Amino acid sequence: MKRLATILLSGVILLAIVLVYRAETHFKDQVLEAAPDKDAVSIDIDGASQRLSQAISYPTISYDDPTKLDAAAFEGLRAHMRASYPLVYAAAPPRLVNEHSLLFRFPGTRSDLKPALFMGHVDVVPVDQATEDQWRYPPFDGAIEEGVIWGRGAMDDKVTVFALLEAMESLLASGLQLERSVYFAFGHDEEIGGPRGAAAMAELLASEGVEFEFVLDEGGVITQGVLSDIDGPVAVVGVAEKGFVNLRLTVNAAGGHSSQPPDHTAAGILSQAIVALESQPFSSDLSHIKMPLDSVGSQTGFVTRLLMANLWLFEPIVARVMAQKPSTAASMRSTIAATMLEGSSKSNILPTRATAVVNVRIMPGDSVASVKAHFIDAINDPRVEVTTFMENEPSVVSPTDSLGYRLIAQNIRAMDESVLVAPYLVIGGTDSKHFYSLSPNIYRFIMVRASAQELKRIHGVNEQLPVNDYGNAIEFFMNLLEDTAKG
Ligand SMILES: [Zn+2]
Repeated sequence: MKRLATILLSGVILLAIVLVYRAETHFKDQVLEAAPDKDAVSIDIDGASQRLSQAISYPTISYDDPTKLDAAAFEGLRAHMRASYPLVYAAAPPRLVNEHSLLFRFPGTRSDLKPALFMGHVDVVPVDQATEDQWRYPPFDGAIEEGVIWGRGAMDDKVTVFALLEAMESLLASGLQLERSVYFAFGHDEEIGGPRGAAAMAELLASEGVEFEFVLDEGGVITQGVLSDIDGPVAVVGVAEKGFVNLRLTVNAAGGHSSQPPDHTAAGILSQAIVALESQPFSSDLSHIKMPLDSVGSQTGFVTRLLMANLWLFEPIVARVMAQKPSTAASMRSTIAATMLEGSSKSNILPTRATAVVNVRIMPGDSVASVKAHFIDAINDPRVEVTTFMENEPSVVSPTDSLGYRLIAQNIRAMDESVLVAPYLVIGGTDSKHFYSLSPNIYRFIMVRASAQELKRIHGVNEQLPVNDYGNAIEFFMNLLEDTAKG
């Protein structure tokens, strides 16, 4: 008996030693090459802010119904761009794709270098009428007040488009010679999936045989207090993006009067299918939650390191805790959201057809086909027909040892060495999803700082961009474009 206790005790001590050892050694300190010293750049921040402010004043709204598109607003914005950035337009007269998207090519001298692509979008989401009076300054005035540029699109995504144009205009003015060609692609319908903008531009470039060394689109930002328990600022750079698919569930049944119903109407059968789906979620995969920690894990607290360095033991517990919060659950598995339901048109008529739409955000590793197979399996009822529409496969995971990632990470840190850089999985969608076949190295990042609270203003009320951040975004792009063009 005593021997057994001794063996057990030694086992527990040994296990504790292994766990603590792994917690202390598993995550390496981030090693980043120092960015080459940059000359301080001078930016006309007042002029640049005025130009962004004017850009916000054009209500370039994307509606679900594309016939509502306000062509004059998009034309006005383009005229403003042309007038503001003469050197850009002289060096790279843009091609118009489907009337409102813009594709610039700044030719480099070396054809042996693959070009780089910088993306952004000029469209914005509408302003919810119910919240209009909560805006501190009207959403399409572009007010510059309190050191902040206010308005719809300030963060999403006119900051990217205009910071890129400002940066390139300045570089051209100072005589930039490109060795590597650089493209800008500014879509006009990102907020509705980019079918006529980014998708068409990607198709055009693919037909011309263009392949990119790397692509940079909107996505991550510099956050604080968001990633695990790290106190300092962390720049999260999207290296992967979830996919998207809608599944329509259809149940057909004999109709009739509701006074003599069968045990299960079409609506009842459909409801059971939805309950079956919700009770059988997709399996979880913690690799994307762990991914940023492989870069910055050594900066997290002991408990986080203990758990995340020992997932071989703690994975079930960690997965269960993460599954309880929608925000973390979304980073570890494909999510299921039943959204639109339809039955009969009258209270006393049995439905001959009941339908539901279920929106799924697909994890890298799953696919549209595997999602559909999971649905059929989980529902397990031949009376429920499952079809898919509006679909985008998830991305592959782009590497962090590519030229593109290195240049992005270096130039983030060149501006502020206290900022750590970490790769992460983008939960929402960006226009870069249309470019998977044009480059294996796709990254998603905007050089702005935003807390979790501030990120809610994107698509919400009081969207805003501090003038200071705008200056940083322009400087970041100047450095990054210069390094990229050097080859
Ligand atoms: Zn956006």
